Order: sequence, then structure tokens, then C-alpha cells
Amino acid sequence: MTALLIDGKKIAGELRARIADAVSAMHGRGVSPGLAVVLVGDDPASDVYVRNKGKAAEAAGIRSFEHRLPAATPEADVVALVRRLNADEAVDGVLVQMPLPAHISAARVIGEIAPAKDVDGLTSVNAGRLLLGETGLVPCTPQGSIILIKSVLPRLEGKNAVVLGRSILVGKPLALLLLAENCTVTIAHSKTRDLAALCRSADILCAAVGRPRLVAGDFVKEGAVVIDVGINRVEDGGKARLVGDVDFEAASSRAGAITPAPGGVGPMTIACLLRNTVLAAARRRGLPDPNL
Ligand code: NAP
Repeated sequence: MTALLIDGKKIAGELRARIADAVSAMHGRGVSPGLAVVLVGDDPASDVYVRNKGKAAEAAGIRSFEHRLPAATPEADVVALVRRLNADEAVDGVLVQMPLPAHISAARVIGEIAPAKDVDGLTSVNAGRLLLGETGLVPCTPQGSIILIKSVLPRLEGKNAVVLGRSILVGKPLALLLLAENCTVTIAHSKTRDLAALCRSADILCAAVGRPRLVAGDFVKEGAVVIDVGINRVEDGGKARLVGDVDFEAASSRAGAITPAPGGVGPMTIACLLRNTVLAAARRRGLPDPNL
């Protein structure tokens, strides 16, 4: 079997076009959604992510505010900036790019973000809403992963889903979203025994571990939907390149559908960040959620 390729770039492009339409309709009502991104330090990968987020926001008609702070910025100054952005009427979404330098507590800074502007969905309030099944802002990568799964499998009810990884950013919220779709969900992590056998039970297999090609071909059930969240930098013949957590070639010979990495989940993460910004902008003003 050769798997169907789930084209994250294309699906993200379609979502971004719908977002641009929604933003244009909001402009017509005098609402101009804005996204503020805070980057502390000069990590090159984070720099690229922040630049891409800003460009994507502007392409969708969303105002982008970049705040770049030196690596040595005290935690109190980052907190003060977040509080200013919380109070800024032009800002609908506040995103603090991770990782933060070691002297700054990510939990402390995230805890300061106003839940209504928490477009990464990382505050306790939004995490709690997701757990309770209430409306909130859902983390972008899991949200994007669900859209990709549904592009090939519209009804998820009763499917066995295995999520590799239990981070607050990806694994846990993705598991909750799959549960909300009535999947039977198992979360695996570094202490899980016989990972290969567990993964082979999955109709939907999502890998978010940060281990290059951990998911080998024999982890994949015939016909399964495989979502590769991983972005790992590896040396290949003296050149650096990005690979996912899944051995793509081996897995595609067994999977029914699979995301490439890069080019699968990554573009969806950015599109869902824009989606969250538009939802936050509408909700803050008591407007109905745009249909995205
Ligand atoms: P993380 O916080 O480092 O969490 C990794 C998880 O994987 C942990 O729960 C860990 O288990 C588990 N794990 C590690 N080694 C394992 C193993 N050998 N077997 C089973 N589980 C194992 O990472 P993250 O933030 O969730 O990110 C995961 C990957 O996704 C990374 O490659 C990251 O770059 C990528 N990512 C991509 C996007 C995107 O937009 N495409 C967005 C975010 C993240 P323990 O909890 O037991 O330690």
C-alpha cells in the first residue's frame, strides 16, 4: 500500500484564505485583529518562526506586532511587556515564543497572558476549558492536526488513537481533542512499554516526541492515518536537514494516509494561530465566531 499524502501546505493555504476573508469582513465592521509576538533572545529557529508568523498574519490582513527582547532581559520586564499587551486594545492575541532563556520561568510568563488573548491556548484557563469541553482557545498544533486527520477521515468516532508524547503544547491537548471526537485514546511517553505494539493498535497514530524517525514502519497498522508532528534537525551527509518523528518512507508503505514532515503539521500550526487570533478578536467584542 502507498499512503495518501496529507498536504498540510494546501490545507493550511485554504484555511488561511478563509481567515483572510473573515478578517476582511471584520475590517468592514471597523474591527482590525492584531497579533503580538514576543521573542526573547536570538535562537535562530525561534527567529524564523516569529518572522513566519508575522508574515502570515500580515498576509491575512492581521496586524502584526513583533517585540524582540535581548536574551538577558529580566523576567520582570517580560512580564511587564505581557501586561502591557494584555491592556492594549489593538492587540487580540499575545504569543510568547518558546523556549525562553533559562533565567525566565515559562510558566510565570504564560500565567500572565490574559486568557482572552492566549492564542497559543497555554494558560491554565484555556487548558481547563479544553478539559471541560468548554469554548476556549485551543493550542494551534493539536488543532491543526485534527483538521488534517479529518481531511482524510471525516468521522473519528470509535477509532483507536495513539498519541506519542504528553507535552502541554502538543500531546495532552491533542489527546483531549481526539477524545472529544469520541476516539478511544492512549497517550504514550518515554516510560511506555512496547511502543511498537501499542502503535500497531492505532487507527490514528500521532507522533509528537522530538525523536528523529522513532516511529518505524512496523509501528504502523495497515491503513492507519499517521500524523507526524515532529520537527528534528539532523545531519545528513554533512548537511543539516529537518525530519519528523516518523520514518516517512517505511511508514508510507503501510499507512492509509500520512503527513510529510516538514510540510504537514507545521503550516497548519501557523494557520491555526491566525484562526485563534480572529476568534479572539471576535469574542472580545461579543461578535459571533467567524465560520472557519
Ligand atoms: P516535548 O515537550 O519535548 O515532549 C516530548 C514528549 O515525547 C514527552 O512527553 C516525552 O515523554 C515523549 N518521548 C520522548 N522520547 C520518547 C520515546 N523514546 N518514546 C516515547 N515517548 C517519548 O516536545 P513537544 O513540544 O511536544 O514537541 C514534540 C515534537 O513536535 C518536537 O519535534 C517539536 O519540534 C515538534 N513540534 C512541532 C510543531 C509544529 O508546528 N509542527 C509544533 C510544536 C512542536 P516524557 O513525558 O515521558 O518525557
